[in-house]
Amino acid sequence: MALRGGGRWARLAPALRGGSAPGRGVSSGRRDGGAVGDTPRYRDLRAALRKIIDKEINPFVDKWEEEGQFPAHKVFKILGQAGFLGVDKPTEYGGMGLDFSYNIAVAEELGNIRCGGIPMAIGVQAGMATPALTRFGSDELKKQFLVPTIAGDVVACLGVSEAGAGSDVASIKTKAVRKGDEYVINGGKMWTTSGCQADWMCLLANTSEGPPHRNKSLICLPMNLPGIHIAKKIDKLGMRSSDTAQIFFEDVRVPSKNLIGEEGKGFTYQMLQFQEERLWGVATVLTPLEIIIRETIDYTRQRKVFDQPILHNQVVHFRLAELATDVELLRSLLYRTVALYVEGNDVTKLASMAKLKAGRLAREVTDSCLQFWGGMGFTSEVLVSRFYRDLRLMSIGGGTDEIMLSIICKYMEMLPSK
Ligand SMILES: Cc1cc2nc3c(=O)[nH]c(=O)nc-3n(C[C@H](O)[C@H](O)[C@H](O)COP(=O)(O)OP(=O)(O)OC[C@H]3O[C@@H](n4cnc5c(N)ncnc54)[C@H](O)[C@@H]3O)c2cc1C
Repeated sequence: MALRGGGRWARLAPALRGGSAPGRGVSSGRRDGGAVGDTPRYRDLRAALRKIIDKEINPFVDKWEEEGQFPAHKVFKILGQAGFLGVDKPTEYGGMGLDFSYNIAVAEELGNIRCGGIPMAIGVQAGMATPALTRFGSDELKKQFLVPTIAGDVVACLGVSEAGAGSDVASIKTKAVRKGDEYVINGGKMWTTSGCQADWMCLLANTSEGPPHRNKSLICLPMNLPGIHIAKKIDKLGMRSSDTAQIFFEDVRVPSKNLIGEEGKGFTYQMLQFQEERLWGVATVLTPLEIIIRETIDYTRQRKVFDQPILHNQVVHFRLAELATDVELLRSLLYRTVALYVEGNDVTKLASMAKLKAGRLAREVTDSCLQFWGGMGFTSEVLVSRFYRDLRLMSIGGGTDEIMLSIICKYMEMLPSK
């Protein structure tokens, strides 16, 4: 299958395209399998992406990890040209028009990238910064921001978290005050993935003094406006090839038509965005966990201690078998949740459960496997140590384990309602 040179991969493979993708990206075409099926359509999509990963990304990952940043414009252009930044986006804006389950298949395949940082940044570009824009944005706004984001011509970021507000999104302090036909923005954002390279931000800001769940709005903010300062690139434990910025806004003026949907609905839109972010995050850890288990099997099979392969100790092979079982259980929960989501159901509880388990399991698998590598596991030469660092973020980013537990408790009606 041709990938480049002849235009978009999606155009070259019309059989893979669905109908337009309204709402949650539910395609009007037939469903050809389970939530994330093992059908030719899913397989072709994954195979095409795998070629790009093997040729354009993996050979450079070590270098980019060392440099502390990957070239987002270059990588996104390649992925955009091939259609992978808009799998579940409407065809009229350059997407493939497939349903969200195909996005999940793509996320699983991205797990073959030999670090966590690049899949995370792709996730922000293809998913986290754009669902609200796709669903609620005006046609003009979609043409200005969504089309080039899907094409990979620009880099997008998501500005929700602040220095004083992470888990408690409602407590953000950044303000966008309406003055005539503009918003004037003051405040700052923290932990912004791709923030040092981004061309625009999906910004959550307070647009009125009202109650914290009804006073927020999402705004498409070009990052080249006067008053936007990238304060620093944050030095991190893991996800090193993904740049993470702290950003300040000082009297930044943006046209009020850059508002996504209705003023005051930003918190609700953001919570909806989180659903897809969480499911996507779960999908991206499955493949790395399998790879780590597989590489640990290979290493412990050839490494002899006390005259026998480490793997031949029952405590070792039983543990690896158990971890592999847990990964499969997580995959089943993910697929079930995605199937329900694509059908239009509220999956907040199941998505939170899957995200919680993914965070816990990511830590468990990487910790257990690293131990079996002995001193080698403590070096930067092996993948297991990189994922030991990178995948810890699953328990933090997009909502911590404790936030997932709080949501699950709420849905199980364990606590008095406020
Ligand atoms: C590498 C990286 C990339 C990121 N990318 C982005 C991005 O692109 N855009 C963006 O907006 N944000 C981003 N984030 C921010 C991320 O979403 C937040 O870090 C996360 O929401 C947690 O917020 P916090 O760091 O302020 O932790 P806090 O809210 O300060 O929480 C700290 C700890 O307190 C405990 N805690 C919190 N709430 C409860 C509770 N209810 N019960 C019990 N304990 C609790 C938990 O142990 C939690 O880990 C990123 C973060 C990182 C590290």
